[in-house]
Amino acid sequence: MHRVTVVGGGLAGCEAAWQLALRGCKVSLIEMRPQKMTPAHAGGDLAELVCSNSLGALNPDSAGGLLKAELRQLNSLIMTCADAAQVPAGGALAVDREKFAGLITAKILGNANIQVRRELCAEFPQPPAIIATGPLTDPGLAQVLREKLGQDMFFFYDAASPIIEAESIDHTKVFWGSRYGKGGADYLNCPLDYEEYSRFYSELTAARTVMPKEFEGEIYFEHCLPVEVLAKRGPKTLVFGPLKPVGLIDPRRGKQPYAVVQLRREDVNSSMFNMVGFQTNLVWGEQKRVFRLIPGLEGAEFIRFGVMHRNSFINSPRLLENNYQLKEFPGVCVAGQLAGVEGYLESTGSGLVAALGLWGRLTGRDVQLPPETLLGAMAAYVSRPNSDFQPMNANFGLLPPIGENLNKMQRRQKYSERSLKKLLLWAKNLIL
Ligand SMILES: Cc1cc2nc3c(=O)[nH]c(=O)nc-3n(C[C@H](O)[C@H](O)[C@H](O)COP(=O)(O)OP(=O)(O)OC[C@H]3O[C@@H](n4cnc5c(N)ncnc54)[C@H](O)[C@@H]3O)c2cc1C
Repeated sequence: MHRVTVVGGGLAGCEAAWQLALRGCKVSLIEMRPQKMTPAHAGGDLAELVCSNSLGALNPDSAGGLLKAELRQLNSLIMTCADAAQVPAGGALAVDREKFAGLITAKILGNANIQVRRELCAEFPQPPAIIATGPLTDPGLAQVLREKLGQDMFFFYDAASPIIEAESIDHTKVFWGSRYGKGGADYLNCPLDYEEYSRFYSELTAARTVMPKEFEGEIYFEHCLPVEVLAKRGPKTLVFGPLKPVGLIDPRRGKQPYAVVQLRREDVNSSMFNMVGFQTNLVWGEQKRVFRLIPGLEGAEFIRFGVMHRNSFINSPRLLENNYQLKEFPGVCVAGQLAGVEGYLESTGSGLVAALGLWGRLTGRDVQLPPETLLGAMAAYVSRPNSDFQPMNANFGLLPPIGENLNKMQRRQKYSERSLKKLLLWAKNLIL
């Protein structure tokens, strides 16, 4: 009988505890709420959703839909309860948040293999263990992790620019190049003339932002400013800052544009691009509306929106194996948002993969998810060398290319088919 500690009763922690319990492990699940609350949680239920009640797209040919299908295939507790708590929301899976958290809490409390301990964890757990204390990890434990893993291995903030799907960029309007030709054609440049810039500027400065919460206030002192805050300093601030056009000639017009938005490759396949200098507090809908005013981005699809908020996560590329186990502390995993995946179901998925990996270690099985699955690809993404590591949502850009001449829809279908087929075979062979 294996005894495992899971710290954090959020989405990742509950999924991990459930998967381990299913396989006969005795799990001690430590959750500090309701004794000690985070700045965003409201109650004491396990797996409480901190913000939106949407778990993303349902369409099986979208990355969100595929992730759901993979989770269902592996008997995810969180997915089962999400399906049972579903409320109508068009093409998305939205849930009645109280019913959702209530169902999960009841399932966990009713499982004879899981003991829930309502207490604050302020120590590095003994192996075997999974740490899944999320983006709002209690400061005491955060300090312990910092001391244990290295001061520069633990981040407290996420200040990230939006990431755009390469296929959604209008390549007839943008051009490759670096300022003054330094660094070769490393950037995709979106040129704006004066009128285009003026329109973009006035919409950007008037757009709705997320109200910075009290606990997020200090971020501005540590990181560069949100693009909209910078813009409000004056109409030319951006043109002399992240949108400066100097050293760039638009080959279509044969001259230097008034302003340039630069996009940088986010992955080796060039399937995703990062909007350089566009960390922002604009609400997601406004990011879509305002950033689509930039020439070339009219049809942009956002893989990840820009964010600036408190978000604890570790330097996973330096610290983790590709099953969320800490290289330096065998038998201890870090999962969920703390491991650098982003989103409710991504966090759930990492908890599931970490639990399977740990169970494999305890029982002498090699449990490695196929890289063609989003669950496997996310685990690979967070553990791959990356000097500019930022948490990432599930997306098709993480998957190995499908290598055929297909249009976008066909390719998405192929990605989904390939993943689910591989996963089915893998699960059968492993006798899960
Ligand atoms: C403000 C905010 C809003 C977000 N909104 C969304 C959104 O709308 N959609 C989306 O997809 N993602 C969102 N995210 C990102 C992320 O997907 C969620 O935070 C997700 O819940 C992360 O899952 P998790 O299991 O890693 O952490 P959590 O769900 O946060 O669970 C961690 C648990 O650990 C507990 N804990 C923390 N420290 C300790 C300790 N020392 N001892 C014991 N217990 C501890 C906490 O109480 C919590 O229950 C948001 C994040 C934040 C911070």
